[in-house]
Amino acid sequence: MTEVLVYVDHADGVVRKPTLELLTLARRIGEPVAVALGDGAGDTASTLAEHGAVRVLTHVAPEYGQYLVVPKVDALQAAYEQVSPAAVLVPSTAEGKEIAARLALRIGSGIITDAVDLEAGEAGPVATQSVLAASYTTTSRVSKGTPVITVKPNSAAVEAVRAAGAVEALNVTFSDQATGTKITSRTPRESTGRPELTEAAIVVSGGRGVNGAENFAIIEALADSFGAAVGASRAAVDAGWYPHTHQVGQTGKTVSPRLYVAVGISGAIQHRAGMQTSKTIVAVNKDAEAPIFDLVDYGVVGDLFDVVPQLTEDVIARK
Ligand code: FAD
Repeated sequence: MTEVLVYVDHADGVVRKPTLELLTLARRIGEPVAVALGDGAGDTASTLAEHGAVRVLTHVAPEYGQYLVVPKVDALQAAYEQVSPAAVLVPSTAEGKEIAARLALRIGSGIITDAVDLEAGEAGPVATQSVLAASYTTTSRVSKGTPVITVKPNSAAVEAVRAAGAVEALNVTFSDQATGTKITSRTPRESTGRPELTEAAIVVSGGRGVNGAENFAIIEALADSFGAAVGASRAAVDAGWYPHTHQVGQTGKTVSPRLYVAVGISGAIQHRAGMQTSKTIVAVNKDAEAPIFDLVDYGVVGDLFDVVPQLTEDVIARK
């Protein structure tokens, strides 16, 4: 059976969920071979094996932590040359997309970014994308070279399937450009204890209707009752009520959670672009004509200051 390379996104050996989703999708095309780089790479092996990786190629070197993406591209190219895979799958993070694009250029392949689904096809993997501010859903496949595909978080359910997950050392020679851009400092963001916005299974977002930074406590309380991440519309971010890192939309982050709750958000096309592929969408808005209601699975017409605290209480009571 053909093998599919899966680039592993991990933090000191803890595999991030989007990589586990990639393993599920990779199994539709062939046998997943994971590529884990940097400190803790070997620690990822058991988790990857529990999610279907037949092999785990690892390489540890200080370059991965000290320089921007090129050392990782060098390593992924080395894995590509070693495995001759049917496809290369990379998580659609900012870094993942840069790695994938550079790899595709080097190996002369076509690339598909931000896929939301992936199936095996007769002429190669077929990727589904949501394009043009989420106005269209397209399917496409790479017609030149080995497909390099980045997949958005929450695009597939994680499946636990045990495979051998044999750890093998990857032989990597860094290119001249590998040490071109050095990381001089890192500032970890203060942790809120909530999941990362783009990876969260549930996102609760507030918009202009929230009417003030202090009122975002209502949004956070609902998010915490669900174990969700907090998002915001650009109107709320521009007003200074919530940090820009939480903006959802065309000029913010793209999320694709199982459940997206839009509170006091009208549903402008630029906001939709960042959340339209969510599996279930719920909106709370006092205007029954708000465009967000064209998009929702469940809508509540009402004042968010009445509805959201009741919803939070209800969620807590059902736990
Ligand atoms: P509004 O459109 O003002 O809607 C507020 C909603 O709250 C209304 O529907 C109202 O009925 C409701 N409401 C008010 N009070 C209550 C209450 N008490 N209870 C219940 N409901 C209430 N926007 C983004 O979000 N993300 C982006 O990335 C983004 N990128 C953009 C890029 C460009 C180039 C441009 C031009 C615009 C972009 N925008 C983006 C802005 C976008 O066009 C909208 O202006 C913005 O999304 C509106 O935010 P909102 O829905 O919170 O505010």
